[in-house]
Amino acid sequence: MRPEDVPRTAAGPLQPLAEPYPVGCTFATPAMSWAPGQPAYAGLPITGPRGYIWSRVRALPPRHSAHQPLGPEQDTNPPLSPWRLHTASLAFSILSRDAFLNRFPLVEAAGSAYDMGYAHGAQAAPLIERYLGHIEKTTGRNRTALGAGALTYVPRINALSPAYLEEVRGLADGAGLSFEEAMICQVRGAAPLPMAPSIDGCTAFAITGQGTVAGRTYAGQNQDLGPEFSDFGIVLHLVPNDGRPRVVTFTFAGQLGYMGMNEHGVAHFSNGLGNAPWQPGLTHYPLKRRCFELRNVAECVDLLRRYRTSSAGNMVFCDGAGAIADVEIRPHGIAVYDDEHPCRRLHTNHYVTAEFAPHEDGNTPDSAPRLDRLRALVAASWGDITLERLKQILADHEGDPGAICRHGAGGSYSIAGYIADPSAGVLHVRRGLGCSGTWTEYIV
Ligand SMILES: [Zn+2]
Repeated sequence: MRPEDVPRTAAGPLQPLAEPYPVGCTFATPAMSWAPGQPAYAGLPITGPRGYIWSRVRALPPRHSAHQPLGPEQDTNPPLSPWRLHTASLAFSILSRDAFLNRFPLVEAAGSAYDMGYAHGAQAAPLIERYLGHIEKTTGRNRTALGAGALTYVPRINALSPAYLEEVRGLADGAGLSFEEAMICQVRGAAPLPMAPSIDGCTAFAITGQGTVAGRTYAGQNQDLGPEFSDFGIVLHLVPNDGRPRVVTFTFAGQLGYMGMNEHGVAHFSNGLGNAPWQPGLTHYPLKRRCFELRNVAECVDLLRRYRTSSAGNMVFCDGAGAIADVEIRPHGIAVYDDEHPCRRLHTNHYVTAEFAPHEDGNTPDSAPRLDRLRALVAASWGDITLERLKQILADHEGDPGAICRHGAGGSYSIAGYIADPSAGVLHVRRGLGCSGTWTEYIV
């Protein structure tokens, strides 16, 4: 890949790309001639710079929710309207550009909470639809039932931050969905009905100080999931205008946040943990997003102490001041894991804290040997760890197919990888396996 092919998002206002989008000419049309009532193919500025397209998106009116009752004077968006074709074509152009370059689609969203949700929804609408279809298929429930379940989380999310619900409203309008449908993306398969949590893989780390070259701080992970999750992964760049920090997060289309880093260098990554019956509480996703609004690791750990979740998981943190932490989370509370060296936190998919180890039921048999292998690789490079060395570690195959670079054990694969480099303000995101995927860097 040539250096000029690497997308780098600039801080502050969105910057136009230096070159036109490399998209198929089928959708490349003359700019600035589209207007309501005209055929959509008459004026889609796909080959324009990013900021140019963005300004056009914002200038267009939001679609009405498909589930809201509309009066005759309001029903301006029939299913095959030029607007619908326009947004579908625009989203297709953005999504196909990134798939062509083997990177996750980059969705840029700026402004108020509603504006950011709207931009996210408008740009990622086809992927959100695909994600919702996947949730329906894997839970065996239709959208009405899922939406009713998702609404039960509204009070808890509102207590965490009312801005998230405003962002979900914008998301719904931008993607042409109901609020309930947009809420499903925030809770994925979780519902008020008890259900077995999905056990995802993942190998995560945070290393600083004595472990790295020049004492730099790094945190990251391999993201192990079913291969279909790669189809709706996106990189979401958030630039709020209300004083909250900028964020780059890998997430799934329609989900407000997942793994990533904010402008203060606060980054977090996670591992699935099991053997925790569902209980009323928050899903992990809004809490992960909330951590991106904090200034350091200590504030993140404090946040996790104060909120209850409905399932278990582990989170690994770092921040711009070089602090690192690891927190095991269960519905009834958390346990902080300090590892055996203050400059290192390594975690896979089993409980390692004294408090929670008794809950371990061995549901991911490769987890303990995978952690042993990670420890050995980190120890072998201790004091000499660099970004490139970490990428190599995430490509390790000892224990295949349940290795650090996972190739199908338990049905999951390392579909993505992330490494946060807080001192550079860069999040590195890999699309694909550790051994063959493509890394792209994103400036927060
Ligand atoms: Zn591999």
